[in-house]
Amino acid sequence: MKAEIIAVGSELTNGAKLDTNSQWLSTELSARGIEVIYHTAVADSMDLMVWALRVALRRAHLILLTGGLGPTLDDITRQAVAELLHVSLILDHDSLQHVEQMFQSRGREMPARNRIQAMFPAGAEPLPNPIGTAPGMWCEVPKLDADHHVAIAAMPGVPSEMRKMFLEQVIPRLPVGEKIIKRARVNCFGVGESACEEMLEELTARGRNPEVGITVHEATITLRINAVGNSIEECDQMIADTKKEIHHRLGDLVFGEEDEELEDVVMSVLANKQLTLSTVESGTGGLLAHRLTNVDAHPELYHGGIVIPGGSRHWELLDFPENWFQEHSLASAETAVEMASRCRLHFETDFALAVTESSPSDESAEGFPTAHVALSSDEGEIVVPHQLLGDRSFLKSRAAKAALNLVRVQLLQQ
Ligand code: AMP
Ligand code: MG
Repeated sequence: MKAEIIAVGSELTNGAKLDTNSQWLSTELSARGIEVIYHTAVADSMDLMVWALRVALRRAHLILLTGGLGPTLDDITRQAVAELLHVSLILDHDSLQHVEQMFQSRGREMPARNRIQAMFPAGAEPLPNPIGTAPGMWCEVPKLDADHHVAIAAMPGVPSEMRKMFLEQVIPRLPVGEKIIKRARVNCFGVGESACEEMLEELTARGRNPEVGITVHEATITLRINAVGNSIEECDQMIADTKKEIHHRLGDLVFGEEDEELEDVVMSVLANKQLTLSTVESGTGGLLAHRLTNVDAHPELYHGGIVIPGGSRHWELLDFPENWFQEHSLASAETAVEMASRCRLHFETDFALAVTESSPSDESAEGFPTAHVALSSDEGEIVVPHQLLGDRSFLKSRAAKAALNLVRVQLLQQ
């Protein structure tokens, strides 16, 4: 069974509002084994809606509409469905009573135009909406051809009302999907998207079950595993096998699962080993400290961070020698090492992380900015250049993550 979701509302097509309903519905449908093949967003226009519906009728077996069921003149989902099916709108007395009651319970009289909310295309079944005025509707489209039947569900646009109606009214009307779908996420850092795909080889092949998809966000790579099986147990087993294979191929590049971030992993390893950390950063606007202080567990292990604004010469807190910056640049490896070791002494921690500002690297013809990231511990200092390729709006975030990853990898080796 293939489904299409049509989100109705000019506020969605003109960019004023994000269509979150389609995302939520797709997740719910996939989990029930119903494949969603299209998301359509359409403006509040009769012609455009009927057009979108006609196209959807030909390619989907289930059409879920959200929005356009309100009482105002621009809400015309019910009229569009009636037009599509060449039927007229008929008043449903139970629904009218419900709408009237909703107004009564708020101590108001029902405006005449709300009556439209109790009207349905002939043959459609009203879907009650206990938390709003707009009832939804369910209709099965008379045979398009011998083996293509289509059901249409129209639900309110308000997300809370839509969700309740979907779970309580639409789900029981859906055929049970033959297959179960389960998902899992594995998070990686320290490799580019295409290099990662190369290392995973056939795991990312199309049509594989479980399927492994790669997405990247500010240099964190997420491997999205989708398993289709006959039971939850079968899916769990397939996911476990695929995860094992991913770990085998990517090794230390894998840092966590689901919503886990680098800082969560760093803090939890520090807690296991009872080690402390401090940070000093320049050019990242304090993002490193921000990430570390976002972790709820074991705040006592992060002793603090110094944030030095880009270009600043105010390094008194770390007691930098007066002439340091006459001899070294703000973005140099030497500066990173000096920052980290002085920070560790200042905060009296087992580890200290430092991030320098970035400056265009000399080696690269394109002049990609390079920051240096350093880690200080009682075993000495490690420093790595971090070339900030790609979208410049994420430079700070990626430099902060590179620092977290440096301490994470070091902790793994201890
Ligand atoms: P409507 O049912 O079209 O009157 O929509 C009611 C309200 O629900 C709108 O003002 C939006 O704020 C919200 N809404 C409608 N469609 C969506 C959608 N697809 N995703 C998220 N919110 C929506
Ligand atoms: Mg609307």
